[in-house]
Amino acid sequence: MKQAAAKGLIRMHEAGITQAILETALAEAKNAGMTHVLEIRLVIGELSSISEESVEMYFEILSMGTPAEGAKLKFTRVLARLFCKPCGKEYEKKGSDFSCPRCGDEGVLIKDAAREFYIDEIEAE
Ligand SMILES: [Zn+2]
Repeated sequence: MKQAAAKGLIRMHEAGITQAILETALAEAKNAGMTHVLEIRLVIGELSSISEESVEMYFEILSMGTPAEGAKLKFTRVLARLFCKPCGKEYEKKGSDFSCPRCGDEGVLIKDAAREFYIDEIEAE
């Protein structure tokens, strides 16, 4: 029961995010005097909870009848970044390995660096 509720919340979250993506893309295209959105490139942090499939599904529904109908979504995943306190090195996390490539100590996650989700580029005509 609890799990079903949580799942519902995540879906709502993604519907809201997709709506925001769509509105941004439409506004950008309009500002640039374009009438048709062809492609939207999105960047998703490794640790963000967003499912690409859900965003694609909502986008298809929400964009119907708008200048963004049929636009392609392209996702780029960015890896989480770690910071090593003892030696000050910043590096990308590889799988479940937290160790610093310089000194071997265990790095800590840089807050929110991999939870991002934003529009990188919009292609329109
Ligand atoms: Zn280190």
